[in-house]
Amino acid sequence: MKIASVTFALLCPAALLAQQQPHTVVLHAARILDVAAGKTLTPGEVLVEGTRIKEAGTHVTHPAGAEVIELGDTTLMPGLIDAHTHLFLHVGNEANQTVDESVPERTLIAADAARHDLLAGFTAERDMGTEGAGCADVAVRNAINRGLIPGPRMRVSCNAIDITGGHEDNSGKNPEQHLLSNADRADSTDEVLHTIREQRKQGADFVKMYETGRDNLHDGVFTSPYQYTQEQLTAAVAEAKRTGSRVAVHATAEPGTGYAVAAGVASVDHADFLSSETMKQMKEKGIFAVPTFAISEYFAEHTESPTATQRRRESEAFHAAEFKKQIAAGVPFAVGSDVGPFPHGTQAREMELMVKYGMSAADVLHADLINGAKLLDWENSIGQLKPGFFADVIAVPGDPIKDISALTHVQFVMKNGEVIKR
Ligand SMILES: [Zn+2]
Repeated sequence: MKIASVTFALLCPAALLAQQQPHTVVLHAARILDVAAGKTLTPGEVLVEGTRIKEAGTHVTHPAGAEVIELGDTTLMPGLIDAHTHLFLHVGNEANQTVDESVPERTLIAADAARHDLLAGFTAERDMGTEGAGCADVAVRNAINRGLIPGPRMRVSCNAIDITGGHEDNSGKNPEQHLLSNADRADSTDEVLHTIREQRKQGADFVKMYETGRDNLHDGVFTSPYQYTQEQLTAAVAEAKRTGSRVAVHATAEPGTGYAVAAGVASVDHADFLSSETMKQMKEKGIFAVPTFAISEYFAEHTESPTATQRRRESEAFHAAEFKKQIAAGVPFAVGSDVGPFPHGTQAREMELMVKYGMSAADVLHADLINGAKLLDWENSIGQLKPGFFADVIAVPGDPIKDISALTHVQFVMKNGEVIKR
């Protein structure tokens, strides 16, 4: 069969040429988002050739034979980025998932989660730890890249790294059950370096570490014990850097966040109650804060008692006030929702909350798309509609600069030049 088709191609160069020419598509809509300028333009057009954007603006070339997709009263914009996801977590059983579900079962559920996120317009994600499923996220990422399953382009970390008795170590449970940690346990610097090397060997793109936890807000006083020393985090950052990787930390409060920022991590996730010195350093070094408000709201709305709801609401209000201080201090932000414990595909809510708590819609879009692309190490490939960038394009009703809620109703999704949702 192979020989026959090669022979045909040799005999018929025109057919070969047609085969090699990439599929060309023109997207047309009422508006297009210019993220860098923070405004929408009218109308909007994107010319896609194969997997890449060829032109984007108010008018593009319409090559002969190009497929034209008319998207009506919508805004064309880059695919959304979620810089803090958990494909391996799902609603209802976060704490016991590692006990109740096998890694193969969790991997299939993660594949379904990836599809939901993509259909909601998230074409790129940074998955912040499988929480007990080891490096199964590498398999999901690779299956997406091979086109076997639909999903966003992924940066994955394998398990997060955590200390004995730390944030994810199933502390306080019946010791006779010998529950495994939901993270990779590493106490000494040597253990941390070994774990980073092992995860890299298995295909991790970056390192996720739990630096603080668990949080406690009592009578207006917020605390969260640190887990690794500044020296340990510095060693971790250096080891990651050695192989072109980076470290992201789960961190709130001091001194943990200060240690992480001094060590030069790529992002501080959750980022609640930072000192002014920490905020200053984050601005100077370009270290992103990823607030993850959506998860807090979901937990506040799904508690076991009115007292718990009250406590959660207080935490939300505290973090919202801290977020305003961070904006005023010039801290750079990326957008991450912590989706998993709340339903996959609903995480655009994070951007509504960032606007609700004081950031302009244009700044939220800049944080999500331009900063998100930097944080995911795809600065020159995603997050903007520019020639040569991957054709990850979505269309939303209305104008997201005027009403950020447009992002919660994504109508059209293209990833890598392929129409996923129409
Ligand atoms: Zn998380």
